[in-house]
Order: sequence, then C-alpha cells, then structure tokens
Amino acid sequence: MMNGEDYLKSIQAMKNVVYVNGERVEEFWAHPLLKPAFNSLRLTYDLESNPDMHPELHSLLRAESELTGGTVSRFLKIVTSTEDLIGRMTMQRVLMRYTGGCFGGRCIAGAVINPLWSVTYEVDDESNGATDYHERFKTYMKRVHEKGLTVMGNITDAKGNRSLPPHKQADPDMFVRVVEKRKDGIVVNGAKLQQSGAPFAHELIAVPTTALGPKDADYAVAFAIPADTEGVIFVNDSACANAKFAAMDPEDIGNAAFGMHQSAHVILDHVFVPNERVFLCGEWEATRHLVHRFSDYQRLSSSSCRCGYIDLCMGAAEAMADYNGVGKVAHIRDKLVDMSIDAETLYGLVAGSAAMPEITRSGVALPNTFFVNAAKLYMNDAVLKAGHRLAEIGGGILVTRPSHYDFEIPKVGELLTKYHKGREGVKVEDRIKMARLAESLSGLACLTPILSVIAAGPPATQRLNFRLLTNFERNRKAAERLAGTSE
Ligand SMILES: Cc1cc2nc3c(=O)[nH]c(=O)nc-3n(C[C@H](O)[C@H](O)[C@H](O)COP(=O)(O)OP(=O)(O)OC[C@H]3O[C@@H](n4cnc5c(N)ncnc54)[C@H](O)[C@@H]3O)c2cc1C
Repeated sequence: MMNGEDYLKSIQAMKNVVYVNGERVEEFWAHPLLKPAFNSLRLTYDLESNPDMHPELHSLLRAESELTGGTVSRFLKIVTSTEDLIGRMTMQRVLMRYTGGCFGGRCIAGAVINPLWSVTYEVDDESNGATDYHERFKTYMKRVHEKGLTVMGNITDAKGNRSLPPHKQADPDMFVRVVEKRKDGIVVNGAKLQQSGAPFAHELIAVPTTALGPKDADYAVAFAIPADTEGVIFVNDSACANAKFAAMDPEDIGNAAFGMHQSAHVILDHVFVPNERVFLCGEWEATRHLVHRFSDYQRLSSSSCRCGYIDLCMGAAEAMADYNGVGKVAHIRDKLVDMSIDAETLYGLVAGSAAMPEITRSGVALPNTFFVNAAKLYMNDAVLKAGHRLAEIGGGILVTRPSHYDFEIPKVGELLTKYHKGREGVKVEDRIKMARLAESLSGLACLTPILSVIAAGPPATQRLNFRLLTNFERNRKAAERLAGTSE
C-alpha cells in the first residue's frame, strides 16, 4: 500500500489547477492554507502502510478488497454488512480522535462509491441489458483499489435559485449537466461547490445533488475524472478560521499540523468524460435512490467522526481543569460526564443504524435511515455543546493567552510565566499548549462566544447566585402545605 511519501509524490506528479486567494498555486499541498488538511490525508496513507505508528488505526484502516483479493483502504471498501458499517464508523471516530482534523477528501469517497455501486447495479438490472454502468464502475473501482487512490465525492451543485429545479434555472449550468454527447464520451459543464479536501484527490466522482424529474434528464449524470483533467479548476475557500494558518506562527496555533477544515469549489468547464468513466447518463429515475443513499452514508461518517471530536474536546477540557486546579470540582465533573453522554448517545445512534441496515440488490449495506438521520440531528447540537462546555471549563486563557514570542522577552517573559501558572506541578508551557488546542477545538475562535461565556464570570458563578438567593425554604413550605404533609 502507498505510504504518505508515495501519496505526496503521486499528488506532486499531477497537474491540478488550484487557486488560493486569487493566485494559481503550483505546490498547493504545501500552501499554509491547505497544508494541515493535506497532512490529514497524507497521514491516513502512513497509518495504512505502517503497523507500528498506531496499531489500532492500522488495522481499522485496512480492509479486504472484494475486487482485487488484496488489502485496500477501508475508505474505498464496498460496504456489504453490519460489520463493514461498524468498521467504518469505528475508523472515523478513532481517526478523528487521533488527528482532530478533517480527512474529508477520503471519507466522502464511501458516500458516493457505495450508493453508485448499488444504483448502477439496479439501473442495469432494470434496463434488460441496454446499459452496462455497473460493469464500467466495477472496472473503474478495481483500478482505484489496485492503486489505492484518493477518490473525492463531488455532490453539491451551485444550485442558483434554490426554489427551482435545474431546467427552470435562468442559467442552465447551476447544476452539472451533459452539454454534448459524442461517440466516445460526453462533455459536462457546471460546478461542484464546497468540496472538502478536493484538490488532494487523484480522482473526482461527480453525482447529482438532488432527485431529478424527467425534464432534468441532462442533469442525471454520474462520472469519474482524474483531478487534473483539462477544464477542472479548484478555487480554495477563504474561511476566516483558516486565515490564522497564513498569519500566525504555528507555535501559537492549536493543532497546527492537522487542525483545519479546508474545502474548494470545483469548476468543471466543459470537461470531456470518456464513456468508460460515465456511470449514469439520463437515468433521472435513479437519482432519488442515489441522493438518499449518499446522504445517509455521509451522515454515518460525519456523525461517527464527531464522536471522536467530542472525545477530544472532553480530553482537552479535563486537562485544562486539572491544570487549573479544579479537576475534581463537582460542576466540572458533571459537564465532562455530559460530554461523554453526548458522545456515546451519538455513537449509539450510529451503531443502531449500522446494526439494522438495508441490504440492496447489489449486496451493498445501507445504514438505517431513521437512526442515521437522528444521529446527524443529535450531532449538530452535541458538537456545539461540546465547544461551549470546553470553553466554559477551560477559561478565558483559551483566547487571551500571550504569544510564544512574548514568553521569550527578557523579564516580561518571566513575569508572564509567573502569572500564567495554574496548579503547582504543571508547566506553564503545557497549560498554554492545551489552551491553544482547546481554543482550536472549541470552534469559538471568533472570540465573542468565549468572551460571552467566560467574561463577567463563568456560568457556574451565575448559578451560584441562584443557589444562594433562591428561597428554597419558602417554596418547599408552599409545596408541603399544599400536599398536607406533617413537617
Ligand atoms: C465546510 C463544508 C464542507 C463541505 N464539504 C462538502 C463535500 O465535500 N462535498 C459536497 O458535495 N458538499 C460539501 N459541502 C456542501 C454541503 O453539503 C452543503 O453546504 C449543504 O448541502 C447545503 O447546501 P448550501 O450550502 O448550498 O446551502 P443552501 O442550499 O443555500 O441552504 C441554505 C438554507 O436554505 C434552505 N433551502 C435550500 N433550498 C431550499 C428549498 N428548495 N426549499 C426550502 N428550503 C431550502 C436550506 O434548508 C438551508 O436552511 C460542504 C459544506 C461545508 C459548509
């Protein structure tokens, strides 16, 4: 299997057209605004190939390929059982707990490969031999397995006026569509927006973003292209949260190696796709299943991944509490337990979806729709609450700590060290390092949320007022009088 260095070389050998902040960037994998996200993907190759780095992840990341008989990355495996679904969710949680960074360029692969595997099978089955999409896709996937490629699932279209279907849009390119059919292939035009980790892929697989009707048959197209195909342009996002990677010293950034979510817009400017890489072309009836299935798959991945994220938030919160000397305080332990309840409830919902799958005609196992959608909804709140609790437990130091340069100033540095001490026995440097990580994990780096939670006193001090001032005795007497009790 490829290791991280092989993967880097394979991406360097490609000619992906990537723009960042208005400039074409040749060595995009090394650009400060992309590097941490690239590192996350690269690390998956190291973990897959090296059993000594992290034995648990090494075995979780490897699976048997039904196409080659060899070993393949679990990200690429065709999922046919509860065991496969559980393998996938466990891998996502443990991997996120290890890196704290997004490896979206790999995880979304499963969300398109498995639905496409099942849908192409069903389309061929129903066409009485008129189409051979499944065999094409199988041949394509065999090559992907043999070479261990990173495959990016491109789903989200530009969409224009969200209330209108593709054929009613003022501009017909708001959804990726077939603009020309040739003997040897098709030409597609449009854009897939907000694609996590997209420039780091060897291959792009595009599928429709919405269920389509008969008037939108030109939009019912699924295909694969190498990421450096002529006409493919990547434009990096400009998330303010990522700007710190360009502006600040890595030593002042929490999880500088991996702690970034990066996405890019993928413009497909009249791109030619040869027939053997076309997996749907006009079969609008199939898009409903395709969209439903990839949504559920991606919800399984992202919900499992966020369990690992909450684990990390919990770990950083506990460490900060300990460094601050309040590790055993009751309200802090309660909040840590609440974080654990959220992580395990979420994981339980995902596990339920894996334990009660729907097996499609092709053999692909789909997570239970009810449970996996409940998981995603639960996750939305759980992640926000984890960041909030982490900020509340960690304190203002998450956003107010001085830079490492300040600690190096003669005399001032010594004074800063003196005044940034927590409990005895904890190095100030460690308290600062953990605060950096906690800031990054909390997702509250825009300051106002942390400022609001912590400044003017943390919530426990506001609760204290209620404990002290509420007339519990009066209320209890009122209840006892009404109940007619003797006391
Ligand atoms: C950081 C990030 C990474 C992402 N990574 C990927 C990726 O790797 N691959 C990928 O394919 N996609 C990716 N996405 C895209 C993601 O799936 C979309 O953001 C999501 O589907 C919503 O689409 P939108 O952003 O265009 O929002 P909009 O469609 O503009 O929705 C905004 C609001 O309008 C509502 N709305 C929209 N249309 C209608 C309608 N017809 N009727 C009623 N209400 C409506 C929505 O419910 C929502 O509340 C990513 C997004 C983000 C933010």
